[in-house]
Amino acid sequence: MDNEVINKLSCFIDLHIHLDGSLPMETVKKLLVLNKIEKNYTDDDLKNILSVPRVGGNLNDYLKKFDFPVSLLQTPKAIEMAVYDLKEKLKEDGLIYAEIRFAPQKHMQRGMTIEQCVRAAIRGQEKSSLKSGLILCMMRGDDNHDLNLETIEIAKKYLGHGVCGIDLAGAEAQYPTENFKDLFDLVKSYVIPTTIHAGEAAGPRSVDTAISFGARRIGHGVRSLESTQTIKSIKDNNIALELCPTSNLNTGLFENIEEYPFKGLLNYGFKITINTDNTTVSNTSIRREFRILNNAFNLNTIMVKNLIMNSVRASFAQPNIRVFCESEIERQFKELNL
Ligand SMILES: [Zn+2]
Repeated sequence: MDNEVINKLSCFIDLHIHLDGSLPMETVKKLLVLNKIEKNYTDDDLKNILSVPRVGGNLNDYLKKFDFPVSLLQTPKAIEMAVYDLKEKLKEDGLIYAEIRFAPQKHMQRGMTIEQCVRAAIRGQEKSSLKSGLILCMMRGDDNHDLNLETIEIAKKYLGHGVCGIDLAGAEAQYPTENFKDLFDLVKSYVIPTTIHAGEAAGPRSVDTAISFGARRIGHGVRSLESTQTIKSIKDNNIALELCPTSNLNTGLFENIEEYPFKGLLNYGFKITINTDNTTVSNTSIRREFRILNNAFNLNTIMVKNLIMNSVRASFAQPNIRVFCESEIERQFKELNL
């Protein structure tokens, strides 16, 4: 299909977008002032600090891009502003719903508590009219168990009041998903909707483990096709995959988009969703992700509509928001005669 159609659509959904890796450039400038940082950064300086080059990237370089934005997000005021600004930017980018995720425990460098951080994010979220939910990330590691437990308790407290789900993020290969069973036993007992980063840096086994821990969605999961057992498990449990193509290219998981297993995943009939992961680090947008897939794999209108509808079905949104999203998507496709 013509990319012009993708450019005209304004009914996108992003279920996998990290706050710290997606700060709009104007927000970063405001955060520099808020943090009383006097050094003069040009736009090019900021781009170099915040974004990875288009090609030739690796996971290490990618992960380094989060230190600076995280350092700017250490007060409730900064968090509130960042969430609000990001939502306004996403609205401009043609989104009708987003699930924004962040790890509260990364924002405690100056004494902010997990709860203060989440409350600030909820305030920022409520100020913008874009429909959205917050996903709280636990972090993989070996010395932050208590912080992860607290994240679960706060997710439970604010579930349905700004928070819509929980995630596990961080170095997948270094800290295997199975290490976190006790956390997900608790998450399960609280019935908090769960997504887990898996099947990206670590192999398909991490996806199997994530599903056994109660994940309804898998962050990335692109390595699932390496195992027939995993393929079956995704199908049997109707698990949604949160694909983020550019991010996987940036971390060097795939050399080029043609290698990306999009068609393979699609052919298995998986519930696939398209997302950005980190719009600033990857210098991308949801529309751009669709264009990239269209250029490489020649999408048709039905595929694009199905992909967006998958995001509605896989979302952790309340029924009224799902109904709104579905009717908006139907309306726009009809209006464009698609
Ligand atoms: Zn992610």
